[in-house]
Amino acid sequence: MRLIFMGPPGAGKGTQAKIICNEKNIPQISTGDILRSAIQNGTEMGLKAKKFMDAGDLVPDEVVIGIIKDRLKENDCKNGFLLDGFPRTIEQAKALDVLLSDMSISLQHVLNLAVPDNELLSRLLERAKIEGRADDNEETIKNRLLNYNKKTLPLLDYYKNSGLLREINGLGSVDQITNIIRETLK
Ligand code: ADP
Repeated sequence: MRLIFMGPPGAGKGTQAKIICNEKNIPQISTGDILRSAIQNGTEMGLKAKKFMDAGDLVPDEVVIGIIKDRLKENDCKNGFLLDGFPRTIEQAKALDVLLSDMSISLQHVLNLAVPDNELLSRLLERAKIEGRADDNEETIKNRLLNYNKKTLPLLDYYKNSGLLREINGLGSVDQITNIIRETLK
């Protein structure tokens, strides 16, 4: 199964993605995780990405498109994959379309986990206290939400037009939302 999970920062897509990937036995491909590990390993890509991430800005398209291009070629993607946090811009979505068509494969579902902005802000501030992620401070969080609304929201129409979009209400318990997602993917 080939899936995209979309949703604003704090919507819980990472949590849900992990559960669904375990059940379906497909890799969870999170550009955020890949970038954070590049930073940790001090790679050139990590160095380049860090200043964008710390500010809550999107990393340039060519960087994340390069990451996905390499990752999708790996063996564990043969039975499918779940993209978590990619694409986030129309440019990225178009590049993904080209990549997939070159590989003669297509997407089955694009899930959008929708959560209102005020709820996101309080969730992210809460997570900041627990996880201490470098980009989880109020100013950066607000910028991430702003960027999401400006650059990523237009993607919903893009996938609506291709008939792939499934809207999921992201308010509820983790279990409730997992169940709705399971039903949607049936
Ligand atoms: P969240 O969506 O909760 O903020 P992520 O781990 O998905 O967390 O992303 C963290 C940061 O990594 C983003 O703010 C952005 O700087 C960068 N990033 C991740 N994925 C992408 C992407 N597809 N395009 C551009 N930047 C990205």
